[in-house]
Parts: sequence; structure tokens; C-alpha cells
Amino acid sequence: MSMDRRRPSTATATDAAVQTAAPQAAAHRQPSDAKDSPTVGPRPKRGVPEGLWLKCDGCGATIYRKEAEERLNVCPQCGFHWYVSAATRIEQLLDAGTFEEWDADLKPADPLGFRDKKPYAERIVAEQKRTGLKDAALTGTGMIRARRVACGVTDSSFIMGSMGSVVGERLTRLVERATAGKLPLIIISASGGGARMHEGILSLMQMAKVSAALARYSQAGGLFISVLTNPTMGGVAASFASLGDLCFAEPRALIGFAGPRTIKATIRVELPKGFQTSEFLLEHGFIDRIVPRKDLKSEIARVIDYCGG
Ligand SMILES: [Zn+2]
Repeated sequence: MSMDRRRPSTATATDAAVQTAAPQAAAHRQPSDAKDSPTVGPRPKRGVPEGLWLKCDGCGATIYRKEAEERLNVCPQCGFHWYVSAATRIEQLLDAGTFEEWDADLKPADPLGFRDKKPYAERIVAEQKRTGLKDAALTGTGMIRARRVACGVTDSSFIMGSMGSVVGERLTRLVERATAGKLPLIIISASGGGARMHEGILSLMQMAKVSAALARYSQAGGLFISVLTNPTMGGVAASFASLGDLCFAEPRALIGFAGPRTIKATIRVELPKGFQTSEFLLEHGFIDRIVPRKDLKSEIARVIDYCGG
């Protein structure tokens, strides 16, 4: 650990372990910024160093990191929900030791030979090294309070959680296996990037592919619970994340399609305050319920029972 990390202000800005950087701010970053962030090197494993403090992005209070972690990375003062990695989500949601990953061998390719600040192929390798993920989604099966489910999670720390071919393929296979196995399906979205520009049209096609698989799942009578977390934007919000039989959202999550500035510049209308928050979207019928992180597991178990899953 560097000396810097002992200072709260620096810890918030630099530590990828708990990803304390404001997700709202992250949502507006360009994907290329990931490489420029000071969070290099492999993500530290669980067991975050003692004595570290976090500055809450919600209320500005300085919080003892361990206390936040014990509350599933939620601020004890104001209830702000911090980023958690896909692996941590799985741990928080599923019964201990029950997760079995599916399609772990799928790896992204670079079909367009794309480059922006650096070649996409190099970016993938750097992101994989930094996050420990092969791409921005983790999928598999496990138990929620002893109920078997198919479960997928996207991770905003991997190229903004954007949906390239691998994310689309993993989610599609997840849905297809849930259909075949008659399993309840849970997808937790944390994607600030929508479709992944580095894969062009191949990335856009994933929206239709996952949605078509979900339509077949629905026709087969499946139960799909979509959980929207901070941030859920772009092509992810515009496809599978919005297609849940039930759509849950974490409190104060940023959920929308384009960023507020883009919309304002396009339609030249003053937008209502907080129009892309969970609370606003609940009020307008876009989501069904706001579920704090600590209640998610029991809420999902309850819904599965209620729907006869
Ligand atoms: Zn707070």
C-alpha cells in the first residue's frame, strides 16, 4: 500500500479495491480514462487493509472502511451505495460457496482492429489484469436462500461495464440455460457504458440478441428479475436491464440512456432535477421497487416464492 492511501481524499480517488470513485462521475468518463486512472496493478483481494478511511460521495462524511464493508459497502451515515465488483455482488447475493461460473472461457476478440488512445487488444489485456475479469460480465448459477437461480452481473470497472460480444454472449447463454433449466433469472446491471464502441456494430447486435433470448425465456414462463445499480446507462439500460418481469433498483442509482448533458444539447429542453435517479424512475413507473442492498437477497427469494419459482 502506498502512503497516499492513508489519506481519505486520495483513498477515495485511487483505490480500485472498493472503487470509491463517485459512480456518477465515472458514468460520464470516457472508456479510455480507465487506463489513465491511478488504479493500476491487480485488484487487491478481500481483506482490505486496516486503518483506511473513505470519504462518502453521498454525504461527504469520513467513514471507517471496515464499517462500510460490513454494511455491504453502504454508507452508515446516509445510505449511499458504493460500487461493488461483480465477484463481491455474487458473494453478497448468493448462498456461500454455491456459485458455479458458466462460460468462463469466453474471451473478447478485436474484430475491427480498433484503436483510440491505444489499441483495443491492448486495452483488453490491461483491463483483464487490473480487474481480474475476462470481460465486463460474470454469469453462472447458484442458490439464493436455497433456491437455485441463474445469475449474471455486469461490472462497471471493466471498460465501464459496456456490452461487447462477450458480455452479450455470456448473458444470452445465461438466459438460454435458465430457459432450458426452468430457473429464475437474476441480472444485476452496473454498466455506465452501454454498447462497447470498440466493437462497433457487433456490440450493438448484442442488445437484440440478449433481448430475443429473454423473449423466448418469457414465452417459456420464466421469471426475470432485473436489478439496476449505479450506473445503468446506454444500450444496457435500453435492452435487457429494462426487460425484467420485475425491475428493482438500488437507492439513488444513476439510470438512463444518454447522459443529461447530451440530452440537453440534443433536445434543448430543461430537464427535471434528478430525472435519471432510481427515485424519479420509481415515481414514473419505470422501475417497480427500490431495494436497499441489504434487503436484496431476501426480496429476491420472496419474489421467487411468490411467483411459484
Ligand atoms: Zn454518506
